[in-house]
Amino acid sequence: MRPHKPPRHLADLDPDERRAALVEAGEPAYRAEQLSRNYFAHYGDLSAMTDVPVRDRDRLAADFLPPLLEDIRTIECDGGKTRKTVWRLGDGSLVESVLMHYPDRVTMCVSSQAGCGMGCPFCATGQAGLTRNLSAAEIVEQVVVGGRGVVDNVVFMGMGEPLANYPALIRALHGLVDPVPAGLGIGRRHITVSTVGLVPGIDKLAAEGLQVTLAVSLHAPDDELRDTLVPINLRWKVAEVLDAAWRYASSSGRRVSLEYAMIRDVNDQPERAHLLGSLLAGRLAHVNLIPLNPTPGSAWTATTPEREREMVRILRSYGVPTTVRDTRGREIDGACGQLAATVS
Ligand code: SAH
Ligand code: SF4
Repeated sequence: MRPHKPPRHLADLDPDERRAALVEAGEPAYRAEQLSRNYFAHYGDLSAMTDVPVRDRDRLAADFLPPLLEDIRTIECDGGKTRKTVWRLGDGSLVESVLMHYPDRVTMCVSSQAGCGMGCPFCATGQAGLTRNLSAAEIVEQVVVGGRGVVDNVVFMGMGEPLANYPALIRALHGLVDPVPAGLGIGRRHITVSTVGLVPGIDKLAAEGLQVTLAVSLHAPDDELRDTLVPINLRWKVAEVLDAAWRYASSSGRRVSLEYAMIRDVNDQPERAHLLGSLLAGRLAHVNLIPLNPTPGSAWTATTPEREREMVRILRSYGVPTTVRDTRGREIDGACGQLAATVS
């Protein structure tokens, strides 16, 4: 039987715990930093571990840097600029990440859970339900192994609800932003955590002081519609979610991104654009409109280009910065629309 708990990995531990784990294994404490450097700066290339005796390398790597992800399929599109990878975890669960090359940056979209328990009806991941949380190391490894040193930005917009996997999210964020050798040293402002709107999680994240960018998946400005698109709205209403977003904006000093998947004749009416504009006017907010990527079997489809332009025009008339997302990798396959969405 396959193990259901991922094996111990250095990236699940903070620097003190790493040292303690090495000492417990009968190694000098400084090996922790050597192994971290190998992992975060050399992406686990053992031949680069020149500061560790050759006879110890394989054993230490097997004990502290076991491979967590197996690349079972990588698909390219946009002439190789977009690469989606399907990873198999130790227990057989599958998750996806997407690497997107732009002229000025490389963005990696990662998964935080295998599946998702939030049940948003327009989302392919939501339809499948939650299999399990990823460990911090399984999240970080998508960037380490899938990105191999080229990643400038990381967005938590793959499978799963990151704030529903809070401790692993925080540990993973440290692995991404802590300076080498403790982590990958990616700029805090270059990390975006996207949430469906778990209010206590937003407040906890604000209190961490990590200053990563927060994206909130709003999709409707009124409770009547949002209750149906985002079932967790039955628990935390639009006003509560937006209040939490403004608290995050004021404590982090960062503009909050509001995600809005435009679904034809569902949430794309000018009245809703006006309501959204009036809720966001004067706030530290930015709207990202995403044309819906229809999931198989769903009656919903993407909005029209006219409605999209109208939405942008109305929101801007309220002084709300608004962009339309480039849906990279759309042709890779239907379920990847959310993964390939990029923060522009
Ligand atoms: N669970 C988090 C992060 C993962 S989903 C969240 O919901 O924010 C990342 C983004 O993709 C979210 O904004 C989500 O609403 C959006 N999304 C999901 N399914 C989509 C689809 N079929 N078309 C367009 N966007 C989608
Ligand atoms: Fe989960 Fe986000 Fe999909 Fe909703 S949109 S089901 S929260 S992954």
